[in-house]
Amino acid sequence: MSLANGRPYLAIPGPSVMPDRVLQAMHRPAPNIYEGELVEMVAGLVPDLKTVARTDGDVAIYIANGHGAWEAALANTHSRGDRALVLATGRFAHGWAEMARRLGIDCEIVDFGKSSDVDLTRAAEALAADTEHTFNSVLVVQVDTSTSVKNDIAGVRAALDAAGHPALLMVDCIACLACDRFEMDAWGVDVMVAGCQKGLMTPPGMSFVYFNDRADAARERADCVTSYWDWRPRAWPDDFYQYFGGTAPTHHLYGLRAALDMIAEEGLEQVWTRHEVLARAVWTAFDAWGAGGPMQMNIADPAKRSVAVTSIRVGAPHGTELRNWLMDKAGVTLGIGLGMADSRDPAWHGFFRVAHMGHVNSHMVLGALGTIEAGMTALGIPHGKGALEAAAAVCAVD
Ligand SMILES: *Cc1c(COP(=O)(O)O)cnc(C)c1O
Repeated sequence: MSLANGRPYLAIPGPSVMPDRVLQAMHRPAPNIYEGELVEMVAGLVPDLKTVARTDGDVAIYIANGHGAWEAALANTHSRGDRALVLATGRFAHGWAEMARRLGIDCEIVDFGKSSDVDLTRAAEALAADTEHTFNSVLVVQVDTSTSVKNDIAGVRAALDAAGHPALLMVDCIACLACDRFEMDAWGVDVMVAGCQKGLMTPPGMSFVYFNDRADAARERADCVTSYWDWRPRAWPDDFYQYFGGTAPTHHLYGLRAALDMIAEEGLEQVWTRHEVLARAVWTAFDAWGAGGPMQMNIADPAKRSVAVTSIRVGAPHGTELRNWLMDKAGVTLGIGLGMADSRDPAWHGFFRVAHMGHVNSHMVLGALGTIEAGMTALGIPHGKGALEAAAAVCAVD
């Protein structure tokens, strides 16, 4: 039998849960794209997009997923033959580097593996070794969604400054914007990419490239940039259509407006705090389960974990078994493995991820944890006791 009927819960790290308010905002007839409400609304979106990134810099909107923003960010700042230092802590940094290579950018990858954050000493060594300042950029992912590691972005800026290195600091915040704290200007980030479908709670299909004046100075000489991906008309449009390089993504914009309203009403600091407490509830449960079984969080040090997603090692085939059980019997969909191998590799079935990003609250998180415990019980996966009680205690806020 199954207990899955009821409201399904997609607990994968993007697309995240879409609030009813976002979906309802999108449920409307086609708007006029030449004048009126939509045109006025978009001008108001831009400052709110900057607020969630804590920047007074500029932002360009793309009708693309995160991969599109990756390419836009690279193309606006590099010429063929330029060099990038890639600080890799999982699958997404390698993906961004591969895209850079295809653009003709020479990438030097420092690989920190799949269970640790960027080691700032090694990053500093790589920068110090580049005495000729051949690196035009440093690429780093704030939260690698595959490993759930969170990197110290201000620390990378400090390493650049200590080395007196002029490379642009370019950060992928696709997984974690409006989940984990991020301060673009205070942390000295030159370029940041984000998508709409994770912390920003909007259906996939829009992404954002944030940039400062230093990055725009690099744009001046970048020969990778093409007219469609050029951030300048999008950030400083003379006409409404220039925001999007063509027809506006009308309904996505209404959805994003509702999502940004929800973030503003809750308050960005409180949004971050909510994620922190809910993540702590999740980690507390996994600690308790792991004390009596194979469950282990991929990132050992809580200070280095994202509050948006948690990657778990449980040993094959338990990861896949548990995911399937939760989908079929409980109406919860967990994320697949760590991007470590492909699904034909038996080891692939030993991982899963729980997203707790965006539109989530304690009943959703405690519900997901309760069904994980039910699944382990049903499948005979050994686990320690007291996880749910401990997680509930974390959520017992006053
Ligand atoms: C989701 C994600 C991406 C890719 O975004 P798409 O919208 O799937 O192209 C890139 N980087 C990180 C860190 C992500 O979490």
